[in-house]
Parts: sequence; C-alpha cells; structure tokens
Amino acid sequence: MYTVGSSTSEDIDSIGGRELARLCYSCGICVGGCPAARFSDDFNPRRIVLEICLGIGRRLVGGGSPIWKCTTCYTCHERCPAGVKPLDVVMALRNISFREGACPESVSVIRKNVLDDGVAGTVTRRAAEIRQKMGLPPAESDGRGELEALTGHE
Ligand code: SF4
Ligand code: SF4
Repeated sequence: MYTVGSSTSEDIDSIGGRELARLCYSCGICVGGCPAARFSDDFNPRRIVLEICLGIGRRLVGGGSPIWKCTTCYTCHERCPAGVKPLDVVMALRNISFREGACPESVSVIRKNVLDDGVAGTVTRRAAEIRQKMGLPPAESDGRGELEALTGHE
C-alpha cells in the first residue's frame, strides 16, 4: 500500500512525487467530486498532485496556499481509482506549512484555543447570552483537563 510522506518529515520531497507520478494518470475523478474545487477557482486536487509529481510543489506551502481550502471530506480518497490519496498530499503540505510557521490566521486561532482550553471552539458572548435567556447554566468545559489526560502532558 502506498503511504504519502511522513508526519514528521519536513521535506517536500518526502511526499513522494516519484511514486505519485507512477500511480496518478490525471483522470480528474478527484476533482469531479471535490466540493472545494467546485467553489474555488484555485483549488484542484489533481493539479496539486501533478505539481508534486513534477517537483514544483513548493509554491503550495504557505498560509496563502490553496491547500487550506480542502474540507478534508475524503471524497477524493474514496474515489481515486489509482489509490493516490490526494487528501494525504494536502495534509502533508499543511504539516510542512505549519512546521514552517505558515498557516492562515483562522488555523492559528484554533491551535491557540486547543492549547489554552483543550477545545477548538470557544463559547461566544452571543452563545452565552442565548444560554442565559433559555435558563441554561453557563457552558463549562474541562477540555484542558481532558487534553492533559489524553496526552499525558500538562
Ligand atoms: S489523484 Fe487519482 S483521481 Fe485524481 S487525477 Fe490522479 S488518478 Fe485520477
Ligand atoms: S478531501 Fe479535500 S481535496 Fe479531497 S475531495 Fe474533499 S475537499 Fe477535495
């Protein structure tokens, strides 16, 4: 079974462009079912795979890269007839971007929320008001405690 890259690798070459080139025959099935490609002019999983195959994928690393438009729905993963796993390529590029300190602001906020509170989202003032109006107690989260229990780190 082909496995894209490695979660600890920091090298774009490690995504395995040569192997991807052997498998992918640019049929475009991944694009046909991709919701992100449908609503975006610059996101295209077939093209992302192709650029990695051609060794020109460096431009896909960064906070402004189209890779962040992927919804991680796994449709391409399930439909690709060649077992290429385009989503794994996108995630490998995201990991490289993140390690290089480059990601969209929205992702940085989620990261901070998880590290601070153990949850990706926070209770907004509006949500707190609605809860109060409905007679509900304030939302409480022990996300941080759960995170520490899961990871074994404080
Ligand atoms: S990644 Fe798979 S579905 Fe997409 S173009 Fe290549 S072979 Fe076709
Ligand atoms: S996982 Fe990403 S690239 Fe694949 S079909 Fe869904 S949105 Fe498109």
